[in-house]
Amino acid sequence: MPELPEVETTRRGLAPWMRGARIADLVVRERRLRWPIAAGLGKRLRGRTIGDVGRRGKYLLVFLEDGALIMHLGMSGSLRVVGPDVPPGPWDPFDLVLAGDPERRVRMRDPRRFGALLYSKDPLSHPLIAPLGPEPLEPGFGGAFLRDRARGRTIAIRDLLLNGRIVAGVGNIYANEALFEAGIHPGRAAGRIGAERYDALASAIVAVLSRAIAAGGTTLKDFAGSDGRPGYFQGQLQVYGREGAPCLRCATPIVRLSGTARSGYYCPRCQR
Ligand SMILES: [Zn+2]
Repeated sequence: MPELPEVETTRRGLAPWMRGARIADLVVRERRLRWPIAAGLGKRLRGRTIGDVGRRGKYLLVFLEDGALIMHLGMSGSLRVVGPDVPPGPWDPFDLVLAGDPERRVRMRDPRRFGALLYSKDPLSHPLIAPLGPEPLEPGFGGAFLRDRARGRTIAIRDLLLNGRIVAGVGNIYANEALFEAGIHPGRAAGRIGAERYDALASAIVAVLSRAIAAGGTTLKDFAGSDGRPGYFQGQLQVYGREGAPCLRCATPIVRLSGTARSGYYCPRCQR
């Protein structure tokens, strides 16, 4: 599932194409995404000029003169820029057509249709955006902040990190990776982790997200291609998806947390 780094990589890939561009049209082939694409959205968008392309958590914000488009990649979606001659695939629900010669199309691919394309006059007050916690890569996030939010709570630390109202955009992959890097067991009660370990955890979150974004930067050239799937960084993962494989630090087999909807992975020796 696209998490903060994948969405940020997407944002960086799209921004040079979209910033300042005029929207010529919105071509909708499948309206039924996680929320239906509003009828009449194309009419509203035609002729509008795009300002900046921002991100909040896992949401892309395409700012217009008034309001913004809110885009979400869902479970396995991606966005890429294609020329006018690239035919859409069966899983490509919409194209945002940018005026120009040649015209460019920002095309979503979303096989599972969990993505979203919404318009909001006041995006930062939108119910999907307003409740989000701080951005982990911006000031305001750190060990003291996490510890404060965890005080007295018995929720597992991994579940705390997955709550977007606590911290925005950290999904299952990078929560597992950061907990490994900080040496913290994913099932540990959030209220029973000390200040120093929270500092280490916050640093690890920043480090794993930053590394993933840096690695994603190498795929940016694909955004002009026909199959530019933005970077997923499987090659760099230390615990996620590595059940039974040796820990990269101590060679103990990595364990998969059972009984949760979203799999957790950890080293039983390195993480306490
Ligand atoms: Zn280990």
